[in-house]
Amino acid sequence: MLIHLASGNAHKAREFQDLVRAAGLPVEIRAAGRMPPVVEDTGTFSGNARKKAAALLAALPADAWVLADDSGLCVEALGGAPGVESAYYAGPQGDSAANLRKLTEVMRAVPDDRRGAYFVCVLVLLGGPAAVSREFEGRCQGGLRREPAGGFGFGYDPLFVPMGHALTYAELGDAAKNLISHRARAFGLLADWLKAESATKKV
Ligand code: IMP
Repeated sequence: MLIHLASGNAHKAREFQDLVRAAGLPVEIRAAGRMPPVVEDTGTFSGNARKKAAALLAALPADAWVLADDSGLCVEALGGAPGVESAYYAGPQGDSAANLRKLTEVMRAVPDDRRGAYFVCVLVLLGGPAAVSREFEGRCQGGLRREPAGGFGFGYDPLFVPMGHALTYAELGDAAKNLISHRARAFGLLADWLKAESATKKV
């Protein structure tokens, strides 16, 4: 089964390929060669993911499989911000180093007991011969360090410490992150669905 990934983010595509391998699924995830431009303006993770998936599906044969994700970091002391705006927190150019710097500064005066945050990932799977439309959500609860730490990953990884861990996502590295991350949890639900469907030969 070939699934086209509606994302131009090479790091995300690699994380998905690792997750597919770990789940032992007979699936190839292929990053979209040319992702049609999509304005992520629906205000929800689900709406944005659906919009990205639909845009890519419109550019492919109707029975192709398309997977899109929308994700972000919700900080409790900031009322859930940056949330769906995570990629553009420091401005429309989507500069992830600037986003990380801004969040570090905004959170500087926030005390340790109010630094809770969680990552959200919504996956939308569209297409296939039966025109499937499914959604899977994963979360990872944790907190924010005072200073970024660690050289792995991307985005806000150097600031986020998942609950029950002492290290940031960026210190843990991809293999450890993929066992607990918001994306891994959403993907786990997708993998369960794919396994159940393939057992009944629906996909
Ligand atoms: P998206 O590509 O529209 O889903 O944007 C997601 C944004 O949320 C990214 O640009 C990052 O800023 C942030 N983000 C989502 N997932 C992660 C992650 O696993 N680590 C770090 N930052 C993430």
